Amino acid sequence: MDYDLTGPEPVAGLLLLRGEEARELRSAAHETKLRHVGGKVYLRGLIEYSNQCRKNCYYCGIRRGNAKVNRYQLGREEVLQAAAFAHKAGFGSIVLQGGERQDEAFVREIEELISAIMESSRGELGITLSLGEQNPGTYARWKKAGALRYLLRIETSSEELYARLHPRDHSFQARLDCLRALRDEGYQVGSGIMIGLPFQMPVQIARDLLFLKDLDVDMVGMGPYVEHAQTPLWDFRHEIPSRQERYELSLNAWAVLRLLMPDINIASTTAIGSLSPQGREEALRVAANVIMPNLTPYAARKEYFLYEHKICIEESQEDSRENIEKIIRAAGCEPGYFAQGNSLHFAARK
Ligand code: SAM
Ligand code: SF4
Repeated sequence: MDYDLTGPEPVAGLLLLRGEEARELRSAAHETKLRHVGGKVYLRGLIEYSNQCRKNCYYCGIRRGNAKVNRYQLGREEVLQAAAFAHKAGFGSIVLQGGERQDEAFVREIEELISAIMESSRGELGITLSLGEQNPGTYARWKKAGALRYLLRIETSSEELYARLHPRDHSFQARLDCLRALRDEGYQVGSGIMIGLPFQMPVQIARDLLFLKDLDVDMVGMGPYVEHAQTPLWDFRHEIPSRQERYELSLNAWAVLRLLMPDINIASTTAIGSLSPQGREEALRVAANVIMPNLTPYAARKEYFLYEHKICIEESQEDSRENIEKIIRAAGCEPGYFAQGNSLHFAARK
């Protein structure tokens, strides 16, 4: 079946499909996925590097203003151990994610970590970074050290909504400039959005998906918004769609994104798993071809608490590996061990 993806209104209509019609939409996305990127799912070992952040986003549990967070930053040995685990387990890549810092000590530490991981894995591990907004010089240094990909969500494509979700000194335009700088620097560029935010209508989510297509990103990491009691948006928790509704909306958004951008890498993210035990499996079945087993050292996991009901907090690295393999197989896919699984879209635009 051909779907009308030409503008926000028809796309919003697709996001609102339920029951049999939603199943048809998701199955069309599944077919598109198999045709363009195949049935393999690539693994990226997720290392939640630090919960220290200079930003104060209104939705995020580790925002600067949350005084109840025990702040940590992993030591070099902890990161190298997690990377070594990923390498040995055949995960082709790791993701180094964390709160945003821009000081030279931080920038240098990340640069040295990237070099050390490149050396210890003989360049075999693909490195994705998700460390927020940085200046172009920093992006260049990290790229030179060996990073391949960078994930920076736009969160929402509405400048007005962005302003309601962030303090005044967080700028939508600055975020866009960062995405452009990452592209100029030669990264595989990833972005994404949150689904089911307060003040967000379905037509806005439709605009967001079309915006990601216009941005021509190589990969997307998106997921439902999940509330957190120690954030300003908690006060608006009664104004967001139910958990079930956010789940349905999210799966339809994954399907539409795959139809819009058939050859990009799409992640099955932790947040969808926090809304439903089948969430990550369903996302893989519908559209995703990347998943991120959590390899953060055990003691740090509970401190990287972005939202309520976050999953994978009690798992060991080995549990993560086993669970993810089960999820991939239950979705009818095959784990892409010992392969980086780079974005085909990136290869094509290069
Ligand atoms: N600090 C970096 C940044 O913001 O790009 C990377 C880490 S940040 C925790 C990664 C992503 O977590 C954000 O882009 C945001 O979309 C997501 N996130 C934060 N709070 C969330 C919430 N309450 N529900 C769902 N996702 C959330
Ligand atoms: Fe910091 Fe990222 Fe959380 Fe914003 S979303 S407060 S930048 S960790």
